[in-house]
Amino acid sequence: MKEVILCKYGEVILKGANRSDFEAKMLKQLRQRARRIGNYKIYYSQSTVYIEPLDEDSIENIDEMFYQAKHVFGFVGVSRAFACEKNIDTILEVVKTELAPKLKGYKTFKAESKRSDKRFPMTSPEISNEVGGAVLSSVPGIKVDVRNPDVIVRVEIRENEAFVHAGQEKGAGGIPYGSSGRGLLLLSGGIDSPVAGYMMAKRGVQLEAIHFESYPYTSERAKEKVLDLAKALTNYTMRLRVHVVSLTKIQELLRDNCEEEYFTLMLRRYMMAISLKLAHDYDCEAIITGESLGQVASQTMKAINVTNSMTDIPIFRPLIGMDKEEIVRIARQIGTFETSTLPYEDCCTVFTPRHPKTRPELEKVIEEQNRLPFEELVKEAYETKEIIVVKQFGENKFE
Ligand code: ATP
Ligand code: MG
Repeated sequence: MKEVILCKYGEVILKGANRSDFEAKMLKQLRQRARRIGNYKIYYSQSTVYIEPLDEDSIENIDEMFYQAKHVFGFVGVSRAFACEKNIDTILEVVKTELAPKLKGYKTFKAESKRSDKRFPMTSPEISNEVGGAVLSSVPGIKVDVRNPDVIVRVEIRENEAFVHAGQEKGAGGIPYGSSGRGLLLLSGGIDSPVAGYMMAKRGVQLEAIHFESYPYTSERAKEKVLDLAKALTNYTMRLRVHVVSLTKIQELLRDNCEEEYFTLMLRRYMMAISLKLAHDYDCEAIITGESLGQVASQTMKAINVTNSMTDIPIFRPLIGMDKEEIVRIARQIGTFETSTLPYEDCCTVFTPRHPKTRPELEKVIEEQNRLPFEELVKEAYETKEIIVVKQFGENKFE
């Protein structure tokens, strides 16, 4: 039985003059993914995008295409429809044999029909009536409820075929990837930063990522873990460029020259300065972190201000008001949680102070900073940068 995939627009419907730009991005992203899977026709009609397989292989790989469609930002619902010949007997047969098994467990339903081919010899209410009857006779215990049904069974009579479907799965939501400009994600191996990246990507930010390592204090495996997290994000972004910068020298110098309780704050100022430089070089208009207010000593309001004051572009902290529990729920949903909780060291955990400052004063921070040639060290660290392009389809590429 041939199936097609239907993707329902979300917020994009509300867009005015530039709606077509948004639509073009969503279609492009579906097409890029489809190309990897098979031969699909993808087109738009009445707030829905249709994905039709054009050959046997593509029909066979429809599960994979469905998975892809659920990861494209901008669609709120994705469903699968059976495509069949445009005559009422065939349609009813499909409802009874293909659709009915999927409707088990629902208590109430409503049938709806749409005829874009007006030559079809029945009106929409007549079709709905027949279809409703077929559902009632083939799904034990189900009842009609036209006001508040658990599921809507839909029949669409289109130009060449009829589509029969029921129920839809949640789409990725948000607005199209890349429609809000570019942002630089500070990606650690923890639970929070991948979630922060996902949340901003969902709001249309095209991601660039930077990861700080401290080899040999941090291991090769710790870096691979971060690349695995980046890989999980490519379910949504298709590809993600990860810049890996070494902080080893800076950390050793800080250990030997800086007051212990200021160590983490100083490190964060270096991270921010290096990130800013990269953001400028790669046209990123914002920096994204996984900070959540009060979670650790470096995320108190005062500590956040110590790094905040350094930048001339906004820092987005989508998790700022979220509890760990809420963050973990999203991490599980986007498939990063398992990797994030693998026990590898992060550069932030190398030489951590026993009593980090929670209420630092900026003046004192600057004094600490001036013990070392800040700008020079930032520049030197930036030069250690290596680039790894992580792709959803295919191997990582080292540039
Ligand atoms: P996460 O779970 O994301 O590691 P965290 O709770 O461990 O966060 P911190 O270590 O204070 O918090 O880091 C705060 C934010 O700083 C992170 O969410 C991330 O955006 C950034 N960050 C921390 N360490 C690194 C790193 N090694 N490389 C890149 N960014 C980092
Ligand atoms: Mg961390």
